[in-house]
Amino acid sequence: KERNAGEPEFHQAVIEVMESLGRVVAKHPQFLEEGLIERICEPERQIIFRVPWIDDQNQVRINRGFRVQFNSALGPYKGGIRFHPSVNVGIIKFLGFEQTFKNALTTMPIGGGKGGSDFDPKGRSDREIMRFCQSFMTELHRHIGEYTDVPAGDIGVGGREIGYMFGQYKRLTNRYEAGVLTGKGLSYGGSRARPEATGFGLVFFVRSMLEAHGDSIDGKTAVVSGSGNVACFAIRKLQKYGAKVVACSDSSGYVVDEGGLDLDLVREIKEKRRGRISEYHRIKGTGTYFIEAGKGAIWDVPCEIALPCATQNELNGKHAANLIRNGVRVVAEGANMPCTPDAVEALRRSHVLYAPGKAANAGGVATSALEMQQNASRDSWTFDQTVERLDEIMTNIHDVCAETAEEYGAPGDYVLGANIAGFVRVADAMRALGVV
Ligand code: NDP
Repeated sequence: KERNAGEPEFHQAVIEVMESLGRVVAKHPQFLEEGLIERICEPERQIIFRVPWIDDQNQVRINRGFRVQFNSALGPYKGGIRFHPSVNVGIIKFLGFEQTFKNALTTMPIGGGKGGSDFDPKGRSDREIMRFCQSFMTELHRHIGEYTDVPAGDIGVGGREIGYMFGQYKRLTNRYEAGVLTGKGLSYGGSRARPEATGFGLVFFVRSMLEAHGDSIDGKTAVVSGSGNVACFAIRKLQKYGAKVVACSDSSGYVVDEGGLDLDLVREIKEKRRGRISEYHRIKGTGTYFIEAGKGAIWDVPCEIALPCATQNELNGKHAANLIRNGVRVVAEGANMPCTPDAVEALRRSHVLYAPGKAANAGGVATSALEMQQNASRDSWTFDQTVERLDEIMTNIHDVCAETAEEYGAPGDYVLGANIAGFVRVADAMRALGVV
């Protein structure tokens, strides 16, 4: 902890994985040799840089940029870029660490990394966003590449930002290297279904969990936090499978629509107008209500399926107790580490089916790897073909987690299953590569 002082999220992520490893090192003591555990917790490289840019008032602004290249035993570093004022090196390290095991679970040839900036895109004009992205890439471009490190989007970084960053990369390097970034637009080398992938993949995972327990999504009531990329496509797929999704949120609060959310309206407000979710209630009126942030939690709303899809540590022990009291059946993480350790403990102790993010939200990065495949072969797959592959990958991740949990004497424990299966894959490759 002294070695990584002031990085509580990183400690939380490492402790959670380490707590699962007792059974695996008891069975395979070779994983304790050659400093492997210490090496796996130490990023291979971390880059911190200045991002100067000029706002619309001609003022110079300075932000801080980060790229943590965590582990490349399985392939080039791979992981998103986050633009949010809360970003610091500890947050990026926790995300990069998680990403390493998540990417291993997909079985695709990708290592783990993550990046971002403390830049706040809220309220910024399109031109300001473009100038910021160009400045960010002016430094980042020396550290990334198709065979080195392949960033993607995350909170605050969607198709628009990836476009501006790709444009700047191409200009600086004079190379049309489509495989350097994923989450690109379709017109310049993106994959169909990448925007949908994390949310759809999450719901495929939930479907598999319920099926394995003789149940289904059809007819269930669901609550999804957030109203960004992951949340919106999770809502769409839940609705397709016959669930009624009654609430979603943003950082200003949450909205409830007892008749079931109108997803087109949510997307109109958040994506087109870049507005606040409270507008939903103002527009729709009867049968809906809005609760401001701090005056209650979305997890107070009774549901059978709860999908935290906003940010880290958004669902705590008290929220978990509320959900359990209200009869929740499934909690699956669309966001990275949205449940606090006491929430996870409460959910695992009860009979709730709980899926950790590194397994349940791996669909995004898996489809990014499919985008890399398409770029490498100069090919472009159909939407249905891509979603079909995503479905196979998510079903496989579910099955591997379930089988691993069973093999290590903890049937139904998806946390243990995901941590052990991800760790073993990375650790085997690291052992083969020697002490590097
Ligand atoms: P977006 O930026 O598209 O959406 C984020 C949503 O979460 C917004 O509704 C935002 O509200 C809300 N939010 C963000 N920070 C906070 C906060 N501190 N408190 C409350 N609400 C907050 O991001 P994504 O949907 O892409 O990402 C969401 C989560 O999913 C993240 O944890 C990300 O790491 C994870 N993830 C994303 C993947 C992807 O493919 N995009 C892949 C795997 C995981 P507001 O608009 O008010 O800011």
